[in-house]
Amino acid sequence: METPNRSIKCNVESCRNHCGSEDYCSLSCITVGTHECNPTQDACTDCMSFVKK
Ligand code: SF4
Repeated sequence: METPNRSIKCNVESCRNHCGSEDYCSLSCITVGTHECNPTQDACTDCMSFVKK
């Protein structure tokens, strides 16, 4: 079982770094980026540390 990092909440269960039973990331830090030239809302941002399970 991965150790949850309680400073990084996340509900992306299809990510290998997700804690599974708890909605937290298991990494010590993550990188957040964007796929837009001019991000205007939360949907414009991405977790760049995502790894498919
Ligand atoms: S790497 Fe990103 S998407 Fe994956 S569990 Fe951590 S915060 Fe969520």
